[in-house]
Amino acid sequence: MNVADAAELAAQLDARGGHAVDSPEQAGLILINTCTVRQKAEDKALSFFGGLKALKHGRPRGAGPLIVAMGCVIPKRKAEIQRQFPFVDVLLDYSDPELVLAELARCFPPLAAMPALEAPPPAVNPELCRASFVTAIRGCNHRCSYCVVPSARGPQRDTPLGDIVAQAQALEAAGAADMTVLGQNILAYGRTSGPGAPGFCELMEALLARTGFRWLSFLTSLPADLTAEVCQRVLAQPRVAPLLHLPVQSGSAKVLGEMRRGYTVEHYRRVVELARQARPDLYLTTDLLVGFPTETERDFEETLALVRDVGFDDAFMFAYSPRPGTPASLELEDRLPRPEKLERLKQLIAVQRELGAVRNRRYLGQELEVIIEQRAPEQTTARTAFNKPVYLAACRQRVGGFTHVRINAVRTSSFYGEER
Ligand code: SF4
Repeated sequence: MNVADAAELAAQLDARGGHAVDSPEQAGLILINTCTVRQKAEDKALSFFGGLKALKHGRPRGAGPLIVAMGCVIPKRKAEIQRQFPFVDVLLDYSDPELVLAELARCFPPLAAMPALEAPPPAVNPELCRASFVTAIRGCNHRCSYCVVPSARGPQRDTPLGDIVAQAQALEAAGAADMTVLGQNILAYGRTSGPGAPGFCELMEALLARTGFRWLSFLTSLPADLTAEVCQRVLAQPRVAPLLHLPVQSGSAKVLGEMRRGYTVEHYRRVVELARQARPDLYLTTDLLVGFPTETERDFEETLALVRDVGFDDAFMFAYSPRPGTPASLELEDRLPRPEKLERLKQLIAVQRELGAVRNRRYLGQELEVIIEQRAPEQTTARTAFNKPVYLAACRQRVGGFTHVRINAVRTSSFYGEER
């Protein structure tokens, strides 16, 4: 979501005559989009602020580049940032491109002097062959007990279907090769737009009917909202990428309940089956959170068992850290020592790595369609419809074009192949 917001802001500034530079020293405006979803992201933002101090050193207040920090770290740590980094000129509690631009028009004179645009330009990734995003939902109405998103990004707001289609068509016209439609829980699309509003299936059907992208993807899906209808009407469509990111978080019924995820382990197993029936070539990925405050050794064993049973192609795995203000941080004592959490994480990563490697071997010898992302004399980088990098020693196809490759070797995070 932050990548999509940053791309949209960059496109908007570009269309008004700005251009990206290579280093902060060359910039007239520095925008820092912060993220609080995990402690590490938050720490990175603060350390980046520290690195900008030299740019303002010895200059009178207001001189030098305008430094604007935005996003969800700001409301949480505003006083501390103002005290520690007084050279940051503007602090914005949000990162919605529209709101940020309105504020910039007030405080950044070069932008204020530029004429308003009739229609916003598409946020096309500068490397057109890389995935482009359209944000369909901002915020989230779910209340997972560990998650900071509902307070950091606010309640769910849907982008009107017509606007999403128009943005997708503009991306396509600008040369984007494929597209991903985004929402914290994309399956909830339309739920807050009133009775009779188009939902997720209608949104994806409209995109399929009114754009010609070879691959359409969607992110992220809350398992509670995955249904047989979604599997049939969306996932089974050949132009929808065979990729499902379905974060399970835990294999323990007790922990899932305390996380307030809204589904059971049985439901999760059932919908995975439905998805695989609808799409036999499915590449299934997940998120796993270990060391939740009440997680016992037995709960953790249940997570390992689920991982072994379901067979994920890939997983994003993290150790729990309390996010201030969330129900879990307020109501549950974080008793599990950090080294214990990290030990469980290490075990989980080892199990998933091994299983993922075995699962990925099914692609050995297969022919897959890929898009060429980058060419260099010794190696070409391509990407499959399910977002796996494929390295090729030689390639005839141009960057941005599609081609077929035979997979000769598989590694944990990438494949190696040759063009057919
Ligand atoms: S569905 Fe849960 S984890 Fe995902 S953004 Fe919403 S509250 Fe957070």
